Amino acid sequence: MSRSAHPAGPRHADVLPEGHYTAPPTDLNVLDEKVWARTVGRNDDGVVTVGGIEVTRLAEEFGTPAYFLDEADFRARCRAWADAFGKDADVFYAGKAFLSRAVVRWLKEEGLNLDVCSGGELTTALDAGMPADRIAFHGNNKSQEEIDRAVAAGVGRIVVDSFQEIVRVAHTAQRLGTRQRVQIRVTVGVEAHTHEFIATAHEDQKFGIPLAGGQAAEAVRRALRLDGIELIGIHSHIGSQIFDTSGFEVAAHRVVRLLAEIRDEHGIELPEIDLGGGLGIAYTSDDDPREPHDIAKALNEIVTRECEAARLRTPRISVEPGRAIVGPTAFTLYEVGTIKPLEGLRTYVSVDGGMSDNIRTALYDAEYSVALVSRTSTAGPMLARVVGKHCESGDIVVKDAFLPADLAPGDLIAVPATGAYCRSMASNYNHALRPPVVAVKDGEARVIVRRETEEDLLRLDVG
Ligand SMILES: *Cc1c(COP(=O)(O)O)cnc(C)c1O
Repeated sequence: MSRSAHPAGPRHADVLPEGHYTAPPTDLNVLDEKVWARTVGRNDDGVVTVGGIEVTRLAEEFGTPAYFLDEADFRARCRAWADAFGKDADVFYAGKAFLSRAVVRWLKEEGLNLDVCSGGELTTALDAGMPADRIAFHGNNKSQEEIDRAVAAGVGRIVVDSFQEIVRVAHTAQRLGTRQRVQIRVTVGVEAHTHEFIATAHEDQKFGIPLAGGQAAEAVRRALRLDGIELIGIHSHIGSQIFDTSGFEVAAHRVVRLLAEIRDEHGIELPEIDLGGGLGIAYTSDDDPREPHDIAKALNEIVTRECEAARLRTPRISVEPGRAIVGPTAFTLYEVGTIKPLEGLRTYVSVDGGMSDNIRTALYDAEYSVALVSRTSTAGPMLARVVGKHCESGDIVVKDAFLPADLAPGDLIAVPATGAYCRSMASNYNHALRPPVVAVKDGEARVIVRRETEEDLLRLDVG
């Protein structure tokens, strides 16, 4: 690892340009446990470890960029969610956040259920042995082929998202000589306090059937008329990276009102409601996520109160955390390649990955933290922007963060909280090879998703 000197530049944070950052932390070597996976720490040599293994060793063995996932943390979070909601509720892990066969096995062992939203996710789930009745199938435009497979496999529920789909699922089940359990996804008209592209319960969007104008009530009417489906409940998912439960409160209120209308019109009380996922995690020290126990307590109280007011039996609740389970459990390890100080602005630090392994910054203006992990430093803070190696100026991994001013090519830096929506959204832009996911536990590291190779790329190219 060579350590070349920088040309003179704005190393220190004397004058700071505009940006989304707070003051530099007093000690850049300290890892805020809020944003790092549970077993991450620094050893006596100042090298960061996860599951007891130094990142320098991990980089040598597995290369960079790579995602390292703390398996003990993942399992602990699964248990925390399952325990918080108890036996009268169901926790479905949202597979789209990150799914692999190993993850499916962990979920199965820890007693969680699984949400999938494509044939590919369904295949992964079934292949790794998740019982079909613990799988929920989502999506706003499931293909007929996907519906066939889901019904034939016997998934526990299909969450239907349109009038057409109610009919398609019913006909498919009839053709296959079965009756499919379904929930109807509704939009409750809530604006979750989050980025527009990940807020999903206001009405001007593609997901769900609006409660407004009686559309959801009409969907229920049609579903109840069809023999191929058994309507078991109503589903609402209000957005992602949400920190307060007020949005869920409004959603639960409106969903329960629909349940009361259904009782009044049809004389039946639907037995289940699903309040979706979307619970926020800490990407930076400014974020304060709530514990699963708190969330469970709040949601249970809200639903119980609303049902008492409507004189309904309290339905069985389910929730679908994705990010809140896997997000904090992994970090991305990069090697610093080039360092470019821009006078009066900031220092651009280029790493060996970028928007191909983390699109969230470009897509949602997401904020991340970053730390020097291969050593400690006593240098002062420099305002840095961590960028990738792709041909886009928007190829930014961490927009504004402080790194030690003596950062040098060859140093390893890590971006925490990249377990969710990073590998699952990774691309081959610029024919980048998607990084591996390595699970680390009790001093052992094993690849659960291998790094792509150039052969993989050429195998698809059959021209
Ligand atoms: C994306 C999604 C989730 C999970 O969202 P997170 O923010 O990862 O918790 C849950 N349910 C549905 C229907 C979703 O689309």
